[in-house]
Amino acid sequence: MCSALILWALFGWLAEYSFPVGESIQLLLSCFHGTVSTKVNKLQKQLQDTEFISQIDNQEQIKKLNNLDFQAWLYIEVLDKLGKNEAECHKKITKTIEILKQKKAEILEELEPRRPKNYRLFKRIHNFFQDGNLTRTEKELNRIDKILNDLVCAAKKSSPSPDIIQDLLNDLYLAISQNAENIRPKKIGLLYKFGELLNLISQKEISRFDRQELDNYYESTINELKSQRQVFSTELKKLLQEKYVQEQELEKLNKVIAEGDIEIAKISEEFKRYREECKSQNSLVDNLQSQLNVANQKLIALQADRKSILNRNNQLIKDINQKQSEIDSLRDKYSAIRYLEGKYIGNLSNKSSKYHFNEKCRDWKMLVAEYVLDLDGSREIINSSQSNIFRKNGLEACQFCANQRKNKKKK
Ligand SMILES: [Zn+2]
Repeated sequence: MCSALILWALFGWLAEYSFPVGESIQLLLSCFHGTVSTKVNKLQKQLQDTEFISQIDNQEQIKKLNNLDFQAWLYIEVLDKLGKNEAECHKKITKTIEILKQKKAEILEELEPRRPKNYRLFKRIHNFFQDGNLTRTEKELNRIDKILNDLVCAAKKSSPSPDIIQDLLNDLYLAISQNAENIRPKKIGLLYKFGELLNLISQKEISRFDRQELDNYYESTINELKSQRQVFSTELKKLLQEKYVQEQELEKLNKVIAEGDIEIAKISEEFKRYREECKSQNSLVDNLQSQLNVANQKLIALQADRKSILNRNNQLIKDINQKQSEIDSLRDKYSAIRYLEGKYIGNLSNKSSKYHFNEKCRDWKMLVAEYVLDLDGSREIINSSQSNIFRKNGLEACQFCANQRKNKKKK
């Protein structure tokens, strides 16, 4: 870079060079901001768009052309460095470099005849030293690059013509013969290959065909188109058939959908009715539920009543059983009771005892109790409505009882 700056300074002094200070500073600053690719892209586009009209005697234009030449060199070098780092943009950068090279060639073509003699001498010295630093392959590639650039410039300048390719081929083969000693056959083969490509394009280019060739070409093209048409026609037929089948299917589907719609409408109506019914059923159910609740409450109350009645019933049964057992025990107890048949009573076992017939008599009371309760089975106590049985068995009447009867009669 330092050697380049020194050369610029020297060239500037010799050829009134105008060093592109502004652009260089902008690029330098963009290096620090990391926006160098954007900046160089913007600047190179400005350079591409710069137009100049040839003004041989205008010294100011020489300065401007020098400046543009250096700008082109600067941008090519920066883009070349960027291209190494960004593989994705490689194609784009290469293309841009080629455009800039062409621009540089246009500028130099305008500039070279106006250079002072001392500059041209210095340039030759510079080129000599510069070439001394390059390898043979690099030198050969530079020559090939220059030949191709010259061809591009020539093509650009040429007016439209049917012989343009042939003219370019002539230029190319002339350049090859001029450089035959300086470029090895292995490398010069590239230029021959390029010539072959141009030749092939020229041969295939339709405007060069004669009447017969054109007829043959058109016939083969028409035949190819016919066969393609046949293929497309078959395809179309197939597609139409498929379309017909699809339409039939679609029609069926539409029918099914329409039926489905009717069905859905019916179901919707049914559902609406069902919902109404449900509503009334629900109110009925609510009503029935409340009735059921009331009935349940009644049932619970009745069940409670039933339970208490059952309890009472059980208690009564218990009481009855108890009374029954009491009655039974009483019946057992009083089964031996005998009833009085008359008021006369006496003990036939004791012949010397008296018989009694007055309720106030203590002995009568005692004998009656013994007789009724059958207290002593060993004593033969007899009860009768007549006194005869006692008198026959030798028993006499009780004096107290007799007295009580007399007192009663007196009254
Ligand atoms: Zn008595």
